[in-house]
Amino acid sequence: MAQVPTVTGMVEAEDLGTTLIHEHMRNLDEAVHAQWPKAGAVMEEPPHVVEPGQDYEIAVREAKSAVELGIKTIGEPTAMLLGRDVDFLRRISEETGLQMITCTGIYTYDHLPQFFVTRDADQMAEFFISDIEDGIQGTDIKAGFIKCAADEAGVNENIEKIHRAAARASVKTGAPIMAHSRPASNTGPRQVEIFEEEGVELSKVQIAHTGDSDDLDYIEGLLEKGVWVGLDRYGLDLFLPYEKRQATTKELLERGYADRIFLSADSVATTDWFPPNVIEQLIAAGAAKDWSIRIVPEKVLPELREWGLTEEQERTLMVENPISWLTS
Ligand SMILES: [Zn+2]
Repeated sequence: MAQVPTVTGMVEAEDLGTTLIHEHMRNLDEAVHAQWPKAGAVMEEPPHVVEPGQDYEIAVREAKSAVELGIKTIGEPTAMLLGRDVDFLRRISEETGLQMITCTGIYTYDHLPQFFVTRDADQMAEFFISDIEDGIQGTDIKAGFIKCAADEAGVNENIEKIHRAAARASVKTGAPIMAHSRPASNTGPRQVEIFEEEGVELSKVQIAHTGDSDDLDYIEGLLEKGVWVGLDRYGLDLFLPYEKRQATTKELLERGYADRIFLSADSVATTDWFPPNVIEQLIAAGAAKDWSIRIVPEKVLPELREWGLTEEQERTLMVENPISWLTS
């Protein structure tokens, strides 16, 4: 069987085990972090500013809690601009035993660094290919997939360039693609279209955050193209309430899509995206109830088992799908 790169080395795909495909150990604004290293991240609950260095302890605590709930591996899609630091991930993985597959790519909804404004998609793709083939940030840790994103700004010129670069790197290396999407802005179909134009095998493409919508026609429209979809923001009621996410998952399972979907939370152990008072307000408003790396193993799966999820379906969702996507 094929091997998959993790932050602690290559593993046999069959040893990935129960996998959450989309969880972050840290999100931070790279430029602010570099310029004002003491600016501090925020822990989501209770909301307070995290001292420099404390983000590591919090990530270790979160990773351990996932391991205790039977999670063996996570996909860690923290790309450039989101605070990618593979040595940080390696240390957490070594300390907790949680296997992590990290990525290359650029995480932006609109803006591009000047460096890439003046370079074309092929030149950008070379950087992604280097992360996949040679290693990331001077280490021998290789990227297991390619990340790109489209959000409220839609697939504008900068975003299209990143998608084409991701596609070309995928065609060249065979690496799969995870594309952050925003169903409310109908980005998914255009993202898939670009990958198709570039000749990417759509079985290598995962359209993340599709589960922010409960519009079954929209979701099936994507599935019919042969891509994977992420029902991967459990707990982010801000975008879609928990009960609606569960109802969508059940409906897709009933329609026979167990082998095309991923369940995850898109959790962040710490983030500096919002000041503490804003996070406090979001939590008080119930916008991120139970949002953590634990929600799928602790709440989502037990409820689905009660509802009738079979052992075979659960194995497909949590073990086989990650292997299929990562080694497709
Ligand atoms: Zn994410």
